[in-house]
Amino acid sequence: MKQLQEKILTDGQVLSDSVLKVDSFLNHQIDPVLMQAIGEEFASKFADEGITKILTLESSGIAPAMMTGLVLGVPVIFARKRKSLTLINELYTASVHSFTKNETNEISVSQKFIGKDDVVLILDDFLANGQAVLGLIDIIEQADAALGGVAIVIEKGFQSGGKMIRDRGVRVESLANIASLANGKVEFLEEVPA
Ligand code: 5GP
Repeated sequence: MKQLQEKILTDGQVLSDSVLKVDSFLNHQIDPVLMQAIGEEFASKFADEGITKILTLESSGIAPAMMTGLVLGVPVIFARKRKSLTLINELYTASVHSFTKNETNEISVSQKFIGKDDVVLILDDFLANGQAVLGLIDIIEQADAALGGVAIVIEKGFQSGGKMIRDRGVRVESLANIASLANGKVEFLEEVPA
């Protein structure tokens, strides 16, 4: 997606060979116009999959998931990373090791929001080693729901997650796929069209 690639090139900060900071439009300050375009793009890619729910992870997945849910006309659920006082029983839970924070979180979703008749689209901001997506797949399997695909805003194609998830036969669509962050420079798998 050209608009996203250009935003990454102008506003993204390469923190190391493996970490990209995008807190000016996605991870802290949010660009609603870009989020709307992202929502429309994902909605058109997954329009024929019969999606009934979108499942993301708090907090950075919520904005693009909301816009996608708005266009597809389906509810958006975010898995919680911290136990909520009001979310105490009947939970699906999974363990997720965080790539950026190097810590393991227990994520949870109330059982009342995903059921066996649902076709769930997983959506997240980044795909690195695939641990977040695996945790969300685990929750969908616990619910006996169907997985409709995985929507990723920024995939780091040089890390192992994308291949691992696609090798399971899951459809993964990313809107920007980064081939390298070496030498402080973002290189995409598919170059920005002129
Ligand atoms: P994974 O579970 O695929 O290893 O990592 C994905 C999760 O880690 C995402 O939910 C995202 O929050 C975070 N993450 C991974 N790599 C990056 C990165 O380069 N930049 C930012 N901002 N977050 C990342």
